[in-house]
Amino acid sequence: MSNYHIAKFGGTSLANFEAMSRCADIVINDSSTRLVVVSASSGVTNLLVELSQGQLSNKQREQSIARIKDIQMAIIAQLHLSDELISRVNHLLAQISDLSMAIAKQPAANLTDKLLSFGERLSSTLFSQLLIDRGQPAIFFDVRDVMRTDSQHGKALVDIDTILSLVQQRLTPLLDKHIVITQGFIGSDVNGHTTTLGRGGSDYSAAILGEAINAEQINIWTDVSGIFTTDPRLTDQAYALKEISFNEAAELATFGAKVLHPSTLIPAMRKNIPVFVGSSRAPKAGGTLVLNETTSKPVYRAIALRRSQTLVTVTSVNMLHATGFLAQVFTILAQHNISVDLVTTSEISIALTLDNTGSDSSGRHQLTDALIDELKKICQVTIEHDLALVALIGNGIESSCGVGAQLFSTLFDINVRMICQGASAHNLCFLVDESVAKDVVTRLHHAMFEDNQQGVA
Ligand code: ASP
Ligand code: MG
Repeated sequence: MSNYHIAKFGGTSLANFEAMSRCADIVINDSSTRLVVVSASSGVTNLLVELSQGQLSNKQREQSIARIKDIQMAIIAQLHLSDELISRVNHLLAQISDLSMAIAKQPAANLTDKLLSFGERLSSTLFSQLLIDRGQPAIFFDVRDVMRTDSQHGKALVDIDTILSLVQQRLTPLLDKHIVITQGFIGSDVNGHTTTLGRGGSDYSAAILGEAINAEQINIWTDVSGIFTTDPRLTDQAYALKEISFNEAAELATFGAKVLHPSTLIPAMRKNIPVFVGSSRAPKAGGTLVLNETTSKPVYRAIALRRSQTLVTVTSVNMLHATGFLAQVFTILAQHNISVDLVTTSEISIALTLDNTGSDSSGRHQLTDALIDELKKICQVTIEHDLALVALIGNGIESSCGVGAQLFSTLFDINVRMICQGASAHNLCFLVDESVAKDVVTRLHHAMFEDNQQGVA
């Protein structure tokens, strides 16, 4: 393992000069930070996405480009202006304009990715200059020289073996003497065409580069001081965790918490690299370490809440003492491309929730008539909407005494519509009416995470 740290800064951390300066302080204060991965300044990728859809009028297009320019120029105004910097930035901005015009004439996925790449290319150009202005040995590095992907524009898959070897050849040697500033989110295919890893992909880029340089730690700087016991909008008693395991963090994200997406962490997990999550606004406030093995393994680590759940209950008297009913139901669901989330069964019925893929903008699952008709051929079907899934995340939940007692005594007057427990050591999930979801989380948090908590064994 090297003793290099990677710092990754998200869009809000790079939104303006003041925010960028705080990021520079963070880099300067940790001499192990040798590689910096940046997102686009907040708002820029969204503007580029609008441009890339090719549906704006000329006037709207000009306005969007002007907004991108304004965001960058407000930062540049406070940098040391060299002719070289001005010409580089002008060149990048001119390409945005040319590409968006080309896309308006004829949209193409490879042009879209190229256009989207300018957010990160601009922010990394400016951040390198800011560090140079502060006397740091910073250099700009085009990540497309090492981040090899396939050619699936918009959601390219990385070719990790090639990346590891390219990083070793082209990037690692620079780290000894420089602070290398590079882009998240973008890559390039074998033909040198620009690709992107999917929205929010910069964390993933940081984890891949962390693996490739064998980093000692990956620091993800965002706008919150770490991963919280629960969403602070649900209870003001929520607090940042000191540590959480990769498995627990993955469960938390799966069940709706807006934390690092689990797949972004896989490269770090593979190499056992700790990932720190903290706020670039308040770096001294600390944050959360995500680790393969945590020092503590509490039964309750966090609570996640996912709203707008749909519960489907299928009932068939034919199921009594029969075999194959589950298989039949799941075959139909699979044929309709439905991914099932939670399942409980009784002798003659199955209750299941569907995940949010296939939901409309309100999050309500769009069950098709064709699917329901097909299920109705073999069973009765009942559908309930407006439920919320509450997930208790922790360790050894399936083998601890008192979890059920604590849950039900805390929620003694709540209708727990469905409960799933036992399949995973890391979660216990249940459904409640959406209208009581906040109250349920607040109460559980109080009972399980605040000072008065009664332990479970
Ligand atoms: N700038 C990209 C986005 O907004 C990637 C990222 O921020 O992670 O999706
Ligand atoms: Mg972002």
